[in-house]
Amino acid sequence: MSADCIFCKIAAGNIPAKTIFENDEVIVFHDIRPMAKVHFLIVPKAHIETLKDCTEANQALLGNMMLLAPRLAAEQGLAGYKTLMNVGREGGQEVFHIHLHVFGGGAAA
Ligand code: 5GP
Ligand code: ZN
Repeated sequence: MSADCIFCKIAAGNIPAKTIFENDEVIVFHDIRPMAKVHFLIVPKAHIETLKDCTEANQALLGNMMLLAPRLAAEQGLAGYKTLMNVGREGGQEVFHIHLHVFGGGAAA
């Protein structure tokens, strides 16, 4: 847990979010500024700043995050969708706690 990290605070239950899935390893919640009708974030509970910081030790976690995308997308009614991970400031990353975006269903209302 990083004291100043918004996603650590959400994972700890200190900031509310529209959570759709949670287990020991990850929490999944709707993005506060959705880029599509359905837009959620798959977020590890462990504080890892970027994909660049990941090692083989994170292999199972990253695989599990990826495999949650089709399962949760189906539950959200998405027949097709996009996944995205922004990496580094130059890659468009704004929150420095890794997260996999999943979005689909057309433009946000
Ligand atoms: P990034 O640009 O880092 O890949 O994406 C960060 C995402 O987190 C953005 O789409 C932004 O809307 C979302 N976000 C930032 N702060 C919060 C928050 O407090 N709650 C939720 N649910 N989403 C957030
Ligand atoms: Zn964090």
